[in-house]
Amino acid sequence: MFYYPGLINRYKEYLPVTENTPFISLGEGNTPLVLSTTIGPSIGCEKLFFKLEGCNPTGSFKDRGMVMAVARALEQKKTRIVCASTGNTSASASAYGARYGLKSLVLVPAGEIALGKLLQAMAYGARILAVDGSFDDAFATVRSLVEIMDMELVNSVNPYRIEGQKTAAFEIVDTLGEAPDFICIPVGNAGNITSYWDGFKTYYEHGKSVNLPRMMGFQAAGAAPIVNGEKVDDPETIASAIKIGNPASWGKALKARDESNGLIDVVTDDQIINAYLRLSREEGIFCEPASAAAVAGFLRLPDLGVDLSDKTVVCILTGNGLKDPDVSEKQATVEIEIVDHDVESVLKLLQNH
Ligand SMILES: *Cc1c(COP(=O)(O)O)cnc(C)c1O
Repeated sequence: MFYYPGLINRYKEYLPVTENTPFISLGEGNTPLVLSTTIGPSIGCEKLFFKLEGCNPTGSFKDRGMVMAVARALEQKKTRIVCASTGNTSASASAYGARYGLKSLVLVPAGEIALGKLLQAMAYGARILAVDGSFDDAFATVRSLVEIMDMELVNSVNPYRIEGQKTAAFEIVDTLGEAPDFICIPVGNAGNITSYWDGFKTYYEHGKSVNLPRMMGFQAAGAAPIVNGEKVDDPETIASAIKIGNPASWGKALKARDESNGLIDVVTDDQIINAYLRLSREEGIFCEPASAAAVAGFLRLPDLGVDLSDKTVVCILTGNGLKDPDVSEKQATVEIEIVDHDVESVLKLLQNH
């Protein structure tokens, strides 16, 4: 029997692990890489893959970094962790906190986080403070709080988060046998694009790949500080996980873009929804809107002058669609039909249309 030992154990030689680091795990990582059947071929790309990060234990890639950050917190004998969150960081922090006996405190922008994510933090028993302000406001408060109280900050400014998230790049190279030509990825606080680039560079330096991918990051048009070159005070987008006006890893994202000869561009909410619906209806993949931004961006690449013929592309589908039932309900075109429970009634209905 094959027992998957978790990310820290699997990639320990590439992670900041000491002899005192506990090899904790909720089974994070080891996520599927699935070949596109329609979206890639529709623009002449036969080798488009989706990295299904929604298959992580709490339904987003945040678990990769959280396991490392929490291992570190335990190693340092911390008893409390804290984060500001658009939702997924709080879900992940509270899950690992619950499992390893840490008290979790999460600050979320009131009324702004997707229902599924909020319910996760509640289920795992975190203390939840809804602040009247944006994610950026909540994050500024958390940064001040950790100056005063002895709590481990587990936002992606925590270097262990970034380190843990590198493992997704390792998995892609391990699966494909080589780095892809392009990575398409949503950009919010910009920790993940930073991690992927670091991860690909690490593997390259260790001779695990002979190429490096170009990093293609996408922000929502209403929350595009990096693309516009200035902070956005009132970010607006349907993709709540990337609704961020002042990214913590702004400079590192620019570095990833420039070193990789990549780009960071925008996608509109309409383009995000189009990709979101195509993913579920054509590919059978239900991701959250922020994740669909990666695919919306992929679909823009020909217009941005990128030649995709014979190229291998991986779109990072960062989170699970079940997290945001409000968006999926609003976008649904399927109506539920009411029918009596006998077979005659069902047949009659099916014959009518
Ligand atoms: C956190 C998150 C993002 C954005 O990642 P950053 O590291 O903040 O750029 C995108 N999609 C989902 C589902 C997320 O949870």
